[in-house]
Amino acid sequence: MPEIFNTIESLDIKLDSHRRNGKTIAFVPTMGALHSGHLELIKEAQKIADIVVMSIFVNPTQFNDKNDLLKYPRTIEADTNLAQSVGLDFLYIPDVSEIYPDNVDTRLNLDLGLLDKVMEGEFRPGHFEGVCQVVKRLLDLVQCDILVMGQKDFQQFTIVQYMIDQLKLTVKLHVVKTKRDKNGLALSSRNARLTDEGRKKATTIYRTMIYIKKNIDLKPIQDLEQYGMKRLAKAGFNPEYVTIVNGYDLQKVKTLTTSDYIVVCVAAWLEGVRLIDNFVLKTKS
Ligand code: AMP
Repeated sequence: MPEIFNTIESLDIKLDSHRRNGKTIAFVPTMGALHSGHLELIKEAQKIADIVVMSIFVNPTQFNDKNDLLKYPRTIEADTNLAQSVGLDFLYIPDVSEIYPDNVDTRLNLDLGLLDKVMEGEFRPGHFEGVCQVVKRLLDLVQCDILVMGQKDFQQFTIVQYMIDQLKLTVKLHVVKTKRDKNGLALSSRNARLTDEGRKKATTIYRTMIYIKKNIDLKPIQDLEQYGMKRLAKAGFNPEYVTIVNGYDLQKVKTLTTSDYIVVCVAAWLEGVRLIDNFVLKTKS
């Protein structure tokens, strides 16, 4: 079993002895309800650091929708077993009072410019403020060398990298590619709330992104975005956006020549569950 810590005090004693022995520490923040996408992050982290810490903390400040927060799955026992299956070292499961104590002002007041005005930021106001707040707070507490995050949340890791740069933090961000099921559906804790039929239908997101990738050199970008929205709506989704963006600044692109790094990002509701995904259309050179 991974060693479980509910307070930073006890975790830090352990980590400190490893630091003194020159060991490097990778940190994987999660909100729990672990699946094999999260396990990929642990496995990647194990390749690049000596010690791996995963946190499970359902962060209230990144939920703009109270209902979404209440419905977020909490499965600590199963999570612990899964973490054990890949040999995780330390599991940190703090209380809200440790992350947001009354006597510490954890707000960041970091201007994210246009990065949080689009896509998730547009549909979930305040979300990235909450993400930056919790990631910075966790980084301050855990004091890792490498932060490991998933490509599944494209806007999230882009904004976290921006925060690291702006605040001149020494931590290195390592991004792990999205783990999908055999039909292409990106693994997500939220998939657990879909019916079997919903899970099948949800693969339309992947197929739509693949279609866009195949046609990116053939059709106008706007047409491809519109096609994506229509295809998802037709399949029974309530799509919020299908947006083709510059992977560096997350702003919409009108032509492929705008950037050497282009990504399609999607958010759509299905069976009352909000799903997001993305696919790189043009890889950075
Ligand atoms: P969450 O618990 O959903 O907040 O996710 C915790 C971390 O796992 C984030 O860095 C996510 O981007 C990452 N993650 C979630 N799903 C996947 C996936 N299917 N493949 C790779 N990473 C993922």
